[in-house]
Amino acid sequence: MITNPVRVIPIECKFGPIAAFAYYVDAPEPAIIDTGVSISASQDIEPTLAQHGIRIEDIRWILLTHGHVDHLGGAYAVWEKTGRNAKVVIPKKEARLLRDKNEQIVDYKSLQGKYITDSAIQEKHISMLTTDIGGIIEPDLEVVDGDSIHLGGDITLSVIETPGHSIGSVTFVLEGFDWAFAADAVQMYGGLSGMPTIENSRLYRKSIKRLLEEVRPKRLFLGHPFRNKDGHLQNAQVECKKVAEVLKASLDMDTKLKDLVKRHLINGRHAEQHELYGPFGSIADEIGYTGDPRHLPCAFFVTMNGYQEELIGTEIKREEENRNDSEKV
Ligand SMILES: [Zn+2]
Repeated sequence: MITNPVRVIPIECKFGPIAAFAYYVDAPEPAIIDTGVSISASQDIEPTLAQHGIRIEDIRWILLTHGHVDHLGGAYAVWEKTGRNAKVVIPKKEARLLRDKNEQIVDYKSLQGKYITDSAIQEKHISMLTTDIGGIIEPDLEVVDGDSIHLGGDITLSVIETPGHSIGSVTFVLEGFDWAFAADAVQMYGGLSGMPTIENSRLYRKSIKRLLEEVRPKRLFLGHPFRNKDGHLQNAQVECKKVAEVLKASLDMDTKLKDLVKRHLINGRHAEQHELYGPFGSIADEIGYTGDPRHLPCAFFVTMNGYQEELIGTEIKREEENRNDSEKV
């Protein structure tokens, strides 16, 4: 049983208008959870740790919650600064994104890129994505649900799969404290762009419910400041009673998005192509969304695509059920 609180240092990694949090976890074998983008190691991680008297080269574990560029982009630079001594850990389902920059392009093209018709803008996005990754790494460990990582002494992180934001996102839970490093698995009402990023809405909902009902964290460490219902950005480190509020807000937004996509797509209004929002123009209209999908990152297309896929999937299932019913008759 651990009695001393573990020191966690949030590190704000800034790039452009965005910031992503990395978290230093103090332990006999110190860990960093997520790494910002390629410039973050020198620009934010090393100086912030130095203010606390910690040397970046002493980090022994680089733990990545998922494969998005703003979380794994800095992994190579941090790894280099440890003399390549730190072990690099990533969810098994997203290891390909650490090994091969082309996999980032494949994902981009199958999500946001699908709705960006201007090839010059696509090229700009792809070049931004690939330059934000410092270098490719072969991971030391590919984790799945139920795995544990021992940071020495009594300090252990368990791995909980929390997919949905991305297909392979995990949450690292500090055992004995129930502190959950969920990063982007929890999105509330969305980040800067005003829309949560949800690649798979069904999995996202399931993961939030699991955190709320089963994991029940006492602290939540998120990847970005996310908005509350009123649109105000909230602190990315959440404690006590606020944890459940944040998880419930995420479920509320999910319900709203699911309903929105269902109503608009069933009514067939999506057939009209909007100049900026493609098939989802009427949805942007209804919610007053004004973000520009030509800038990265754009949650709008990724999330609309996710809910649309769930809707289509549901419809196929319903047809099958109907067919089964009629066969019985
Ligand atoms: Zn992400």
